[in-house]
Amino acid sequence: MYVFKHAADLKAYLDNARTAGKSIGFVPTMGALHEGHLQLVTTALEHTDLVVCSIFVNPTQFNDPKDFEKYPITVEADTAKLTDAGCHVLFLPSVAEMYPEGLAGGPHYDFGYLETLLEGAHRPGHFQGVGRIVHKLLQLVMPDQLFMGQKDFQQCMIVKRLLEITGLPAQLVICPTKREADGLAMSSRNVRLSPTERAGATLIYKVLSYITEHHAEADYAPLIAEATRRLEAGGFVPDYVAIADAETLQPIFHPTSGKQVALVAAKLGDVRLIDNMVY
Ligand code: AMP
Repeated sequence: MYVFKHAADLKAYLDNARTAGKSIGFVPTMGALHEGHLQLVTTALEHTDLVVCSIFVNPTQFNDPKDFEKYPITVEADTAKLTDAGCHVLFLPSVAEMYPEGLAGGPHYDFGYLETLLEGAHRPGHFQGVGRIVHKLLQLVMPDQLFMGQKDFQQCMIVKRLLEITGLPAQLVICPTKREADGLAMSSRNVRLSPTERAGATLIYKVLSYITEHHAEADYAPLIAEATRRLEAGGFVPDYVAIADAETLQPIFHPTSGKQVALVAAKLGDVRLIDNMVY
């Protein structure tokens, strides 16, 4: 696996590969890699000739400075995992490499109402930061296909919109959420849970399953209230429990014919977890 720290070197390498007719798959991450990330790499290897993974803890998408400071960094272990997975290229830029213009300011992306609800409402500026870094990475890597996880459901919708806004030609491939044996969605933040918190964290999965099992009920308000009550009883502080149209993310309160998604964001101790289930 080639490791590049500088954008110019990565670009030169990828330009050559493209000229040689290779299709490029891209998996952007913030590192502390787990099986969920590696599944994206494996899927990218099945779809494209040359797979690039980036590891960059993007400061502009953290609305909470403590969350940024505590974000786990495990570059050596990550490099070994990517090598074992068969990834071809790892891009490991510094903050100065990605933001030579500085962190302040930057473009504004019109994500419309998508940015005003759920994660957008609870993490002001988060999706602008996601848009800014994904745009930069896409301009650099120019992938044929971009692989992202359903775990970050709203982020996938934002990136889809970003592709429309920028006209960049990458095709977005959304991969299913990889879970631990007890149902907890794999996340880099899970390592920050204490053993007791880790044992209780599966409640998010149970609550999402509870919602999907009761989706035929006429009124979703009591369902959401009960899901919230269960999370609180399990020691969580929920940011939101929501049921939405899976195509538009508009909240819904009654059964519909189309696909729905149940979404939860909740804090356990000082770790904020998100998960969702489409049905
Ligand atoms: P992150 O490193 O958390 O920014 O995630 C990088 C990519 O991996 C994003 O596209 C995430 O949606 C995806 N991802 C994170 N956790 C999982 C998971 N448990 N299953 C599938 N994809 C995931």
